[in-house]
Amino acid sequence: MNLADSERMAGVLEEAGYSCATEASDANVIIYNTCSIRDKAEQKVYSALGKQAKRKRQHMGDLKLVVAGCVAAQEGAALLRRVPELDLVMGPHHANRIGELLEQVDLGAQVVAVEPVMIPEDIAVPRRDSALSAWVNVIHGCNERCTYCVVPNTRGVEQSRAPDAIRREILALGEAGYREVTLLGQNVDAYGRDLPGAAADGSGRRAWTFTDLLHHVHDAPGIRRIRFATSHPRYFTERLIRACAELPKMCEFFHVPFQSGDNDILRQMKRGYTHQRYRRITDSIRRHMPDASISGDAIVGFPGETEEQFEATCELVREVGFDRVNTAAYSPRPATPAAEWDNQVADLLKMDRLNRLNRIVNEVAEERAQRFIGRPLEVLVEGPNPKVAGQAMGRSRHNKLVFFDGDGGALTGELVTVFVDRVHAYSLFGRRVA
Ligand code: SF4
Repeated sequence: MNLADSERMAGVLEEAGYSCATEASDANVIIYNTCSIRDKAEQKVYSALGKQAKRKRQHMGDLKLVVAGCVAAQEGAALLRRVPELDLVMGPHHANRIGELLEQVDLGAQVVAVEPVMIPEDIAVPRRDSALSAWVNVIHGCNERCTYCVVPNTRGVEQSRAPDAIRREILALGEAGYREVTLLGQNVDAYGRDLPGAAADGSGRRAWTFTDLLHHVHDAPGIRRIRFATSHPRYFTERLIRACAELPKMCEFFHVPFQSGDNDILRQMKRGYTHQRYRRITDSIRRHMPDASISGDAIVGFPGETEEQFEATCELVREVGFDRVNTAAYSPRPATPAAEWDNQVADLLKMDRLNRLNRIVNEVAEERAQRFIGRPLEVLVEGPNPKVAGQAMGRSRHNKLVFFDGDGGALTGELVTVFVDRVHAYSLFGRRVA
């Protein structure tokens, strides 16, 4: 989400005549687009800001310092008290407005724009980092209230973009030569529940669901692959799974965070599902698409987590057979319920559990990767491998990085077939075949 916001801000600024500096020391405006999902990310921002603030005090009165994103939304005007050299503090809702906010700074104001607002439909073309794969926001914000999560406080309530605006953006991407889009949202499966109307087929469904959106954009000429992230198990329906199996451009890759394998912890997290429901989802994905890659997110050391409850998470990882799991030790976040509880798990124990879970995750991923050995895979070439001369790199539909001998520069953007003969947990190696 932050990468997509950064690309939108860069697009707005280029439109306004700014260009990207190669070194921070050459820049007139420095923007930190921040993440507050964990304390470590937040502390990194303060450390980076401290250096720039010092520079501004000493040498560069005309340097503009901006904090955007979730730390800005979380701290608001308090950030100005902590770092008085700041010129602009802007939450993620305001990414499209960065041009006009900087104009206010030019008039001499210190500006704070963190209130939740209706996000205006994109008027600027994002300056995308890739010429092949594009992020496309479909829904902003989140209506869930997971007890560990700061996102609803910083990104506000759900706002689905209009289906036709999303389709127009994807058609334009296809025309511009993009091959792959990733539909983005904090909770993409909740798409459409804030849009008016009911389905015309009399089914009682609302007018637009995420599955309807997939059908609406799937035929975009030029686009060869469609992915989406992130899903929430509460909203992940059988209808969505069937659509992914039936629509040929939908990649057989699913990122569905589970967070814990224990029902009591899930209840305390207010996730709204059980590990049994989660397993039914992954079983159904595998029934419809036996080869699908499934990844998830897990938190260890949530307040009160016992050894047995932690073991249940390890068990879930082994049983489902994930291709990847993003793991994290629970990090108490400001203004979230779980941060106030008095049954916090000691840091050392959290780190121990994290290390143990990571070992299992890597073993399972390596085991899962074996299924690709001896198989031809379709690979979208992203370019040369910057670390190995003469080697090209790309991605399979399963979102695996694939390396093979070849001219990555000349093949960029091509869909090629690679016969896989060697695998690591998260990357595959092979040779190109006709
Ligand atoms: S669904 Fe995701 S973004 Fe929303 S509150 Fe829960 S963890 Fe946070």
